[in-house]
Amino acid sequence: MGGPIFAWPVRPKANSYVAAGYLDPAYARSMGVPHTGEDWNLRTGGDSDLGYPVQAVFPGTVVAAGWYRVWGNLVVVRVDPWVQELLQKALGEPLEDLYVRYGHLHHTVVTQGQQVDAGECIGSIGKGDGGRYMAHLHIDFPRMRIPPDAYPRTEAQVRAQYLDPARVWGALSFADRPNLLPSGRLYAPVRYIGKDLEAPRGAWVRRVEERLWVRPVSEEA
Ligand SMILES: [Zn+2]
Repeated sequence: MGGPIFAWPVRPKANSYVAAGYLDPAYARSMGVPHTGEDWNLRTGGDSDLGYPVQAVFPGTVVAAGWYRVWGNLVVVRVDPWVQELLQKALGEPLEDLYVRYGHLHHTVVTQGQQVDAGECIGSIGKGDGGRYMAHLHIDFPRMRIPPDAYPRTEAQVRAQYLDPARVWGALSFADRPNLLPSGRLYAPVRYIGKDLEAPRGAWVRRVEERLWVRPVSEEA
């Protein structure tokens, strides 16, 4: 504990957009399988995002880092329990476990067993197995332990096994939207005190209307 609670996977977020969302019908029509997460692209288009850095969204432990069919290089991070606890409360439902999977990476810079902070670079945007796609980041949130190369074929499987990333973003209401983590380690760990969450070292998180409000501090307190 002691690092930031959250970072967008691509920085600054304003430079990127989600080309295909969770269970996107157009994706299912063209790929023949349901989409487990979101595809993030830079606004500059094409393969311009090839090699662009990808940051860990939540702190956690790397449980897989390697090459897999379809996904190419991928990294799976098991989210630290204290963050899982916060998210479960914000989402209002239990999670069996929580992972973040980063797919189609050009290269990876972490290894299995390594602890990563939110905002720490885990690799760069790539084109998947055999360069079969235009460069983009695939990100999804397995809500239970799954094989790293899981590639579910039915919508029911996706619903049961993956959280909608939009729900994860929605559970966190950001004080500083365009660039949440301008300088890295801005968020301290938090603990519940009644309805509020207290964070040591200046950063704070507060639960209001079932959402977590995360406010960055400009410098270390
Ligand atoms: Zn995808």
